[in-house]
Amino acid sequence: MKRSISFLFAVMLAFAALAQPARPKLVVGIVVDQMRWDYMHYYHDQFGADGFNRLLGEGYSCNNCIIDYVPTVTACGHASVYTGSTPAFHGIAGNNYYIHGKQVSSVQDDDALTVGSATSAGKRSPRNLLATTIGDELRLATRFASRVFGVAIKDRAAVLPAGHSANGAFWYDRKGGCFITSNYYMSQLPPYVQAFNSRYAEVMKTNLNSVPEGVSLTFELATEILKNERLGQMGATDMLAISVSSTDMIAHTFGTRSPETDASYIRLDQELAKFFSMLDDTIGKDNYLVFLTADHGGTNNASYSSLHRLPTGGWAYWTNDFKADLDKQAMQRFGLPFSKLIKDINEFSVYLNNEAIDSAHLDREAVKKAAVRFFCKSDYVDRVIDIENIQNEPVPQPLKERIIKGFHLERSGELFIVLKPGCYAGEADKPGSNHGTWSTDDSHIPMVFMGWHVPHGETARPTGMTDIAATICAMLHIQMPSACIGTPVPALTDHILDK
Ligand SMILES: [Zn+2]
Repeated sequence: MKRSISFLFAVMLAFAALAQPARPKLVVGIVVDQMRWDYMHYYHDQFGADGFNRLLGEGYSCNNCIIDYVPTVTACGHASVYTGSTPAFHGIAGNNYYIHGKQVSSVQDDDALTVGSATSAGKRSPRNLLATTIGDELRLATRFASRVFGVAIKDRAAVLPAGHSANGAFWYDRKGGCFITSNYYMSQLPPYVQAFNSRYAEVMKTNLNSVPEGVSLTFELATEILKNERLGQMGATDMLAISVSSTDMIAHTFGTRSPETDASYIRLDQELAKFFSMLDDTIGKDNYLVFLTADHGGTNNASYSSLHRLPTGGWAYWTNDFKADLDKQAMQRFGLPFSKLIKDINEFSVYLNNEAIDSAHLDREAVKKAAVRFFCKSDYVDRVIDIENIQNEPVPQPLKERIIKGFHLERSGELFIVLKPGCYAGEADKPGSNHGTWSTDDSHIPMVFMGWHVPHGETARPTGMTDIAATICAMLHIQMPSACIGTPVPALTDHILDK
C-alpha cells in the first residue's frame, strides 16, 4: 500500500513537471540609471571578479543595444525595458507629460495614498502605464502564483518595472527618510520593511538619491524582500525588479568623468558581487536568470569635452535672455509673447497652447513654423521636428523612427527639438552630465543576461532596449507584454530540441 501511494505520488509529480514549461526559480531585472554601455569596459580594471566582470565572464552581452526612441529619460526607459515597447504605445512619454491638458509626473496617482510615511511621496501607481510588463505576463501565465516585486530609490524606477499586477513596490521617500509604498499595493508596510527603515533611519536622513549608500541600501532592501517573501522558493517563478537610481543624480551633479561617479560604480560592482553570491546560496547558481541594462546613458560634461576639443555644447532654454528673445520675436509677429503660445518645453518636447492660439485666431501652422525657426537659431540645436508633418521633412530614417516611437498622440508635445551630437540641455560652464537625446552617448546601453539557460558569449549585432522583454518572455515561454515590439535575441532563445 505504502509503495503504491509513493508510486502514485511520483507519477503525479512527473505529470506536474510535464505540465510546467521549464523555467528558472527567479528572474532578476537590474536597471542602472544613466549607465553608459562603455562603463563596463572603462572600469574593467577597477571592478572585482564577481560583479560586472562575472556578468561579462559568464553571461551573454549584447554590445550594441540602442534605445530606439527619444527622449532618453528615466521613466520612458524603465517602462520600455519591462514592456518591450516605446512611449508611443505604453504612454510613459517622459518623466513628466500631459494627460487631458494637465501636467503629471510619470507615476503620479492623485487617488493613491502613501503607505509608510506622512508625506505625499506615495501617491503613486502604474495606472498611467498603458501596456503590460514582463511581471504582469509572468503572473498571468502562472495563474498569479508567481510573485513580482520592485525596489528602487526613485518612485518611477520601482513602480513601472514592477507592473500593474505586482505584489509590491517600494521606493525611497526623501522627506520621510524611509522606504515607502502606496495603497495601490497594500495597506501597511510589511514588518520587514518597517524593521529595515528603523535599522537604517540614521543613514536615510542623507539624501540617498545622490550618495553611493543609495546603491547599497537598494540591494540591502532587495535582499530583505527576497528572503522574507521567499522569492524563488515557493514553486512558481518569481520576479524581482531592482533599479539603481543614485548613479543618475551623482552623474548629474558631478559629471560622467568624476571621482564621485567612479565611486558609485565601484560601489555598485561590489553590491552586485554580494548580491549574486547571495542568489547562488539562496536560489542556486543555475536556478535564477538575471538581466542588467540601463534606462539611458549620459553625455559627458561640456567643459570636460571642450577641454579635449570634442564637439559639445549646453543648450539652456530656460534662461531669462532666451525667454525674453523668444517673447520679443513672437510679439512682433503675432502680437502675443511665445510664453502664451507655448504651454511648455519639457524633455525636448514643445507643447503648443492650442487654446490660446485658437482664441487669438492665429494660424497654428504659422506659430509652429515660427517656433521651429526660432529654436533652430541656437548653435546647439540640429533641427526641430514638426511631428505632425514628419513624413514631409528631410529627417534620416533612424531619427525619424525614434521620434515617432517616442511620440504619444495625447501626451507629447507637437514639436521635438533635436540637439547636435555631444550637446545637452544645461549650462555648459556648470559641472554635471545630462541625457535625453538620440545620440549614442545617451542611447547606447548595457544589455547583459546571466544564469539559467544563458550561454556565455557576446554579439555586436544591433539589438534594442525593447528586445529585452521579448527575450525574457521567450525564454520563459510566456506571452510577451501587450505592446511589445521587440525581437528575442536568437542566441538565448533558439534551441535544437531532441527528437
Ligand atoms: Zn537623469
